[in-house]
Amino acid sequence: MAFSFFKNGDKLYDEGNELISRGEFSKARNILQKSIDKDGGVDDVAAVQVAIIDLQGNLDNPQRFSNLENALNGMGDSALQFGLVEIDRQRMLTECSLLGRRAELIGEVNRAIKSNDIANMKGVADRLQSLAQEFQMNLGDKTFYLYEIFNRDTTTTGTNVFFALMAISYETRSRATVWSNPSEAAEFEQIAMGYRQQNGESGENNMARVRSFAMTGKCWLCGRIATGEGIHFYTTPADVSPALNKDTGTRSAPDDLRSIYICRACYSAVSNRADDIAREYHEQAMSEMRAMEMRIQAEISALQTQISFMRG
Ligand SMILES: [Zn+2]
Repeated sequence: MAFSFFKNGDKLYDEGNELISRGEFSKARNILQKSIDKDGGVDDVAAVQVAIIDLQGNLDNPQRFSNLENALNGMGDSALQFGLVEIDRQRMLTECSLLGRRAELIGEVNRAIKSNDIANMKGVADRLQSLAQEFQMNLGDKTFYLYEIFNRDTTTTGTNVFFALMAISYETRSRATVWSNPSEAAEFEQIAMGYRQQNGESGENNMARVRSFAMTGKCWLCGRIATGEGIHFYTTPADVSPALNKDTGTRSAPDDLRSIYICRACYSAVSNRADDIAREYHEQAMSEMRAMEMRIQAEISALQTQISFMRG
């Protein structure tokens, strides 16, 4: 009679799959990892399942995608099932490599935006566009296994991702251009809005940027005309009496007379000067406080001396 105190690899594998179909992925991962360890790492399907589970909540992590890609390449042509989802290995490989590259490029876009690296923004925008086309070509109306597994999403297609990436690409191009040419940036935003709307989004953020990038104002202080609100000129609160508001042509104040337009140069000069003045006041106040503190300290020690005399 054979006793088995320890579960063998196959049994663990079955248990892992049972947990997957109940949606208990992290428990399943532990069991599947044990089954891999038992069988010395030859249970390749389990390795793929572990790599899939590791992508949960990590769809922005390129490294996790390459782990899955390696596992898929190592498993040969056995049938692959994850819970109820039947997976075609070749299609999963395509999905995995495209989503992995998307994660990489989106990371790069965010870094370029953070460091305001304009040359890099333009480069990434180009690469996003060719990646978008690959989603369209290779997945088209197909949905994503990983979205189905993690989000129960069975409607997002390769074409949806194509639209989304095209929108991000044009928004990135717009960011890279707005500094030198706001009207061209407004055109890029308009194109991005078109892609967002194809995906059923309103595109209102793009529309707001189109409006401000295309808006022209005359600086109340120096009279220069600037296009691109929030970039090349600002709307700043001010008290404009009706008698002052006699603009003809390009406006230097919005209709409500509660603010004026100031070009970036004037705005930065005024705010730098205001900062300097504030700093001077701050330093003056601090040195007065220090002088007062010293006077009080001197009085305290004089009092202490008197007290010790009285005690003595
Ligand atoms: Zn100005």
